[in-house]
Amino acid sequence: MDLGISGRTAIVCASSKGLGRACAEALAEAGVNLVINARSPEALESAADEIRNAYKVTVETVAADVTTVEGCEALQERCSAPDILVNNAGGPPAGDWRKFEREDWHKAVDSNMIGAIFLMRAYLDGMAERGFGRVVNITSGMVKAPRDVLSLSVAARLGLTGFVRGIVPAYAAKGVTINNLLPELFDTDRLRNNIGVLAKRDSLSLQEAIDVQLADCPAARMGRPDEFGGTCAFLCSVQAGYMTGQSILLDGGRYPGVF
Ligand code: NAP
Repeated sequence: MDLGISGRTAIVCASSKGLGRACAEALAEAGVNLVINARSPEALESAADEIRNAYKVTVETVAADVTTVEGCEALQERCSAPDILVNNAGGPPAGDWRKFEREDWHKAVDSNMIGAIFLMRAYLDGMAERGFGRVVNITSGMVKAPRDVLSLSVAARLGLTGFVRGIVPAYAAKGVTINNLLPELFDTDRLRNNIGVLAKRDSLSLQEAIDVQLADCPAARMGRPDEFGGTCAFLCSVQAGYMTGQSILLDGGRYPGVF
């Protein structure tokens, strides 16, 4: 399917690997030129080379921490008028909520809520003036099914989700959509690291700990990052122009509710 976005420009945050990288690749496959970002310059440059070679699109890089003021400014210096913005960053640590200090909560909110809000502040009005824009915020399945062990992530991402719903109407008639993608159990380094911690705690092999996680997943497997990226590219397509303010859960059927 032609997604109708060939020649557009996307900023994809936190995208040298994992879900951000998968979104970047799916957009590149649709002919979108990219600005990709991560903190480690080496991994970022090699991701850029691989994407350029595979998809023949322009790929620029911004090596910066996207959750900081400096990182946000560095992206704006490199790209002042993107058509597409994919907001992403590393997630906050898991742990006992009673043991997190004010500083931990502030850091989570800064990283997984305020950083995305400031990038939207930088770009949404320009998208509206130009009559086209797509924003996809990568959040988490925790937004629909919170768990105490990931309370930092839950609190920050629900804050972002509520904020987004409030601003969606101001942009809907101007060709600009804002949606959230909620991953759960996607096979990335981060997920394997997190499950590795549980494996160590429970004296299991990594595969045994993965199987424990999959026990209540109807799909009986982890999600593939390319499945996630393809959904992101669809949300950025012309075909998805009437879809905005939505939180799309990608979890292999794990969430048991109707809505
Ligand atoms: P990943 O495989 O660890 O990849 C993270 C990517 O983001 C890397 O390219 C990393 O590069 C970059 N990054 C991390 N922090 C950054 C920062 N502050 N500024 C710029 N780049 C940054 O992780 P993932 O599984 O794709 O997760 C992506 C997001 O989805 C996270 O917020 C995670 O919590 C959330 N999530 C994932 C799942 C899942 O099933 N995988 C489930 C729920 C939520 P550098 O380290 O070089 O910066």
